[in-house]
Amino acid sequence: MKVKFAEFVMSNSDVAKCPKSMLPEYAFIGRSNVGKSSLINMLTDRKSLAKTSGRPGKTQLINHFLINKNWHLVDLPGYGYARVSKSAKKTFQKFITQYFNYREQLVSAFVLVDVRHKPQPVDLDFMQWLGEHGIPFSIIFTKADKLKSKAIENHVNDYKTVLLETWEEAPNYFVTSSSKGIGKDDVLGYIEELNRDMLIN
Ligand code: GDP
Repeated sequence: MKVKFAEFVMSNSDVAKCPKSMLPEYAFIGRSNVGKSSLINMLTDRKSLAKTSGRPGKTQLINHFLINKNWHLVDLPGYGYARVSKSAKKTFQKFITQYFNYREQLVSAFVLVDVRHKPQPVDLDFMQWLGEHGIPFSIIFTKADKLKSKAIENHVNDYKTVLLETWEEAPNYFVTSSSKGIGKDDVLGYIEELNRDMLIN
Protein backbone atom coordinates (compact mmCIF):
# COMPACT_ATOMS: atom_id res chain seq x y z
CA MET A 1 0.00 0.00 0.00
CA LYS A 2 1.20 3.49 -0.81
CA VAL A 3 0.08 6.21 1.59
CA LYS A 4 -1.10 8.99 -0.71
CA PHE A 5 -3.23 10.82 1.82
CA ALA A 6 -2.64 11.29 5.55
CA GLU A 7 -4.50 13.83 7.60
CA PHE A 8 -4.91 14.54 11.31
CA VAL A 9 -8.59 14.21 12.27
CA MET A 10 -8.91 14.82 16.02
CA SER A 11 -7.51 14.24 19.49
CA ASN A 12 -9.57 13.43 22.53
CA SER A 13 -9.66 11.49 25.77
CA ASP A 14 -13.16 10.08 25.40
CA VAL A 15 -13.95 7.08 23.21
CA ALA A 16 -17.51 8.37 22.77
CA LYS A 17 -16.15 11.40 20.95
CA CYS A 18 -13.96 9.47 18.50
CA PRO A 19 -14.95 9.71 14.81
CA LYS A 20 -18.34 8.17 14.13
CA SER A 21 -17.38 6.75 10.74
CA MET A 22 -17.11 2.98 10.52
CA LEU A 23 -13.80 3.00 8.64
CA PRO A 24 -11.47 0.20 9.76
CA GLU A 25 -9.08 1.36 12.41
CA TYR A 26 -5.61 0.33 13.64
CA ALA A 27 -4.23 1.47 16.99
CA PHE A 28 -0.55 1.94 17.77
CA ILE A 29 0.52 1.75 21.39
CA GLY A 30 3.67 1.14 23.40
CA ARG A 31 5.93 2.45 26.08
CA SER A 32 6.96 6.07 25.88
CA ASN A 33 10.08 6.56 23.80
CA VAL A 34 9.64 3.20 22.04
CA GLY A 35 9.67 5.01 18.69
CA LYS A 36 5.91 5.19 18.02
CA SER A 37 5.84 8.70 16.57
CA SER A 38 8.82 7.91 14.35
CA LEU A 39 7.12 4.72 13.17
CA ILE A 40 3.87 6.54 12.33
CA ASN A 41 5.82 9.16 10.41
CA MET A 42 7.69 6.44 8.53
CA LEU A 43 4.50 4.54 7.66
CA THR A 44 2.78 7.66 6.40
CA ASP A 45 5.83 9.17 4.70
CA ARG A 46 5.39 12.40 6.67
CA LYS A 47 8.08 14.10 8.69
CA SER A 48 5.90 15.13 11.59
CA LEU A 49 2.38 13.76 11.31
CA ALA A 50 2.84 12.29 14.77
CA LYS A 51 4.90 14.51 16.97
CA THR A 52 8.19 12.99 18.02
CA SER A 53 9.22 14.29 21.36
CA GLY A 54 11.88 13.93 23.98
CA ARG A 55 9.35 14.32 26.75
CA PRO A 56 7.74 10.98 27.57
CA GLY A 57 4.09 11.05 28.54
CA LYS A 58 3.36 14.35 26.86
CA THR A 59 0.74 13.27 24.37
CA GLN A 60 -1.87 11.57 26.49
CA LEU A 61 -4.72 11.59 24.05
CA ILE A 62 -6.37 9.33 21.46
CA ASN A 63 -5.21 10.76 18.13
CA HIS A 64 -7.03 9.84 14.92
CA PHE A 65 -5.44 10.15 11.48
CA LEU A 66 -7.28 9.46 8.24
CA ILE A 67 -5.15 7.47 5.78
CA ASN A 68 -5.91 7.20 2.05
CA LYS A 69 -9.43 8.30 2.99
CA ASN A 70 -10.32 4.68 3.78
CA TRP A 71 -8.84 3.77 7.16
CA HIS A 72 -7.92 5.35 10.47
CA LEU A 73 -4.56 5.16 12.10
CA VAL A 74 -4.85 5.76 15.85
CA ASP A 75 -1.95 7.01 17.90
CA LEU A 76 -2.57 6.08 21.54
CA PRO A 77 -0.63 7.48 24.48
CA GLY A 78 2.57 5.81 25.58
CA TYR A 79 2.35 3.79 28.77
CA GLY A 80 4.82 2.98 31.50
CA TYR A 81 6.28 6.43 31.98
CA ALA A 82 7.45 7.14 35.49
CA ARG A 83 7.12 10.89 35.62
CA VAL A 84 3.35 11.36 35.56
CA SER A 85 1.22 11.39 38.69
CA LYS A 86 -0.83 8.44 39.93
CA SER A 87 -4.09 10.19 39.11
CA ALA A 88 -2.89 10.90 35.56
CA LYS A 89 -2.04 7.20 35.21
CA LYS A 90 -5.52 6.22 36.39
CA THR A 91 -7.23 8.55 33.92
CA PHE A 92 -5.00 7.19 31.21
CA GLN A 93 -5.88 3.60 32.04
CA LYS A 94 -9.56 4.40 32.06
CA PHE A 95 -9.78 5.94 28.64
CA ILE A 96 -7.44 3.43 27.07
CA THR A 97 -9.39 0.47 28.43
CA GLN A 98 -12.60 2.16 27.30
CA TYR A 99 -11.13 2.72 23.86
CA PHE A 100 -10.28 -0.98 23.50
CA ASN A 101 -13.54 -2.17 25.04
CA TYR A 102 -15.90 0.03 23.04
CA ARG A 103 -14.26 0.94 19.75
CA GLU A 104 -16.06 -1.37 17.34
CA GLN A 105 -14.11 -0.09 14.35
CA LEU A 106 -10.82 -1.35 15.76
CA VAL A 107 -9.51 -4.14 13.54
CA SER A 108 -6.18 -4.67 15.23
CA ALA A 109 -3.77 -3.10 17.69
CA PHE A 110 -0.03 -2.88 17.16
CA VAL A 111 1.97 -3.10 20.37
CA LEU A 112 5.39 -1.56 19.91
CA VAL A 113 8.40 -2.87 21.78
CA ASP A 114 12.03 -1.82 21.55
CA VAL A 115 13.84 -4.77 19.97
CA ARG A 116 16.89 -4.19 22.19
CA HIS A 117 15.09 -5.08 25.40
CA LYS A 118 14.21 -8.44 26.89
CA PRO A 119 10.46 -8.97 27.39
CA GLN A 120 9.32 -6.41 29.96
CA PRO A 121 6.49 -7.00 32.45
CA VAL A 122 4.66 -3.79 31.52
CA ASP A 123 4.46 -4.86 27.85
CA LEU A 124 3.65 -8.49 28.63
CA ASP A 125 0.89 -7.42 31.04
CA PHE A 126 -0.60 -5.19 28.38
CA MET A 127 -0.52 -7.97 25.76
CA GLN A 128 -2.08 -10.32 28.29
CA TRP A 129 -4.85 -7.81 28.89
CA LEU A 130 -5.51 -7.46 25.14
CA GLY A 131 -5.60 -11.23 24.73
CA GLU A 132 -8.00 -11.67 27.64
CA HIS A 133 -10.29 -9.05 26.14
CA GLY A 134 -10.23 -10.68 22.71
CA ILE A 135 -8.51 -7.75 21.03
CA PRO A 136 -6.37 -8.83 18.09
CA PHE A 137 -2.86 -7.45 18.12
CA SER A 138 0.51 -7.74 16.44
CA ILE A 139 3.87 -6.84 17.91
CA ILE A 140 6.03 -4.25 16.19
CA PHE A 141 9.67 -4.44 17.21
CA THR A 142 11.25 -1.00 16.79
CA LYS A 143 14.80 0.34 16.36
CA ALA A 144 16.06 -2.77 14.55
CA ASP A 145 18.99 -0.72 13.20
CA LYS A 146 20.45 -0.79 16.70
CA LEU A 147 21.11 -4.57 16.72
CA LYS A 148 22.70 -7.18 14.48
CA SER A 149 20.32 -9.66 12.87
CA LYS A 150 21.32 -12.54 15.18
CA ALA A 151 20.53 -10.47 18.27
CA ILE A 152 17.20 -9.44 16.75
CA GLU A 153 16.36 -13.08 16.15
CA ASN A 154 17.24 -13.95 19.76
CA HIS A 155 15.11 -11.16 21.18
CA VAL A 156 12.14 -12.02 18.97
CA ASN A 157 12.46 -15.66 20.05
CA ASP A 158 12.57 -14.63 23.72
CA TYR A 159 9.24 -12.87 23.23
CA LYS A 160 7.72 -15.84 21.44
CA THR A 161 8.87 -18.19 24.21
CA VAL A 162 7.35 -16.05 26.96
CA LEU A 163 4.07 -15.54 25.10
CA LEU A 164 3.74 -19.23 24.28
CA GLU A 165 3.81 -19.97 28.00
CA THR A 166 0.34 -18.43 28.19
CA TRP A 167 -1.04 -18.53 24.65
CA GLU A 168 -1.45 -21.29 22.12
CA GLU A 169 -0.16 -19.15 19.31
CA ALA A 170 2.34 -16.34 19.25
CA PRO A 171 1.00 -13.11 17.71
CA ASN A 172 2.09 -11.81 14.32
CA TYR A 173 5.12 -9.62 14.54
CA PHE A 174 7.06 -7.10 12.46
CA VAL A 175 10.67 -5.99 12.77
CA THR A 176 11.06 -2.31 11.94
CA SER A 177 13.46 0.60 11.94
CA SER A 178 12.13 4.08 11.27
CA SER A 179 15.59 5.48 10.73
CA LYS A 180 16.39 2.85 8.08
CA GLY A 181 12.89 2.43 6.64
CA ILE A 182 12.78 -1.26 7.59
CA GLY A 183 9.43 -3.04 7.87
CA LYS A 184 7.32 -0.29 6.36
CA ASP A 185 5.98 -2.34 3.44
CA ASP A 186 5.30 -5.33 5.69
CA VAL A 187 3.17 -3.35 8.14
CA LEU A 188 1.31 -1.44 5.43
CA GLY A 189 0.83 -4.63 3.38
CA TYR A 190 -0.66 -6.35 6.42
CA ILE A 191 -3.09 -3.47 7.03
CA GLU A 192 -4.05 -3.51 3.36
CA GLU A 193 -4.77 -7.23 3.55
CA LEU A 194 -6.95 -6.80 6.64
CA ASN A 195 -8.80 -3.90 5.00
CA ARG A 196 -9.49 -6.10 1.98
CA ASP A 197 -10.78 -8.90 4.21
CA MET A 198 -13.14 -6.42 5.85
CA LEU A 199 -14.63 -5.54 2.46
CA ILE A 200 -15.12 -9.19 1.50
CA ASN A 201 -16.77 -10.21 4.81
P1 GDP B 1 7.64 7.80 21.06
O1 GDP B 1 7.79 8.48 22.37
O2 GDP B 1 7.33 6.35 21.21
O3 GDP B 1 6.71 8.50 20.10
O4 GDP B 1 9.11 7.79 20.39
P2 GDP B 1 9.78 8.74 19.30
O5 GDP B 1 9.36 8.37 17.93
O6 GDP B 1 9.62 10.18 19.73
O7 GDP B 1 11.30 8.26 19.42
C1 GDP B 1 11.98 8.25 20.68
C2 GDP B 1 13.48 8.31 20.42
O8 GDP B 1 13.90 7.13 19.73
C3 GDP B 1 13.90 9.48 19.53
O9 GDP B 1 15.13 9.96 20.00
C4 GDP B 1 14.03 8.86 18.16
O10 GDP B 1 14.95 9.54 17.34
C5 GDP B 1 14.52 7.46 18.48
N1 GDP B 1 14.08 6.49 17.45
C6 GDP B 1 12.82 6.27 17.05
N2 GDP B 1 12.78 5.31 16.10
C7 GDP B 1 14.06 4.91 15.90
C8 GDP B 1 14.69 3.93 15.04
O11 GDP B 1 14.06 3.23 14.24
N3 GDP B 1 16.04 3.81 15.15
C9 GDP B 1 16.78 4.55 16.02
N4 GDP B 1 18.09 4.33 16.05
N5 GDP B 1 16.24 5.47 16.84
C10 GDP B 1 14.90 5.66 16.78
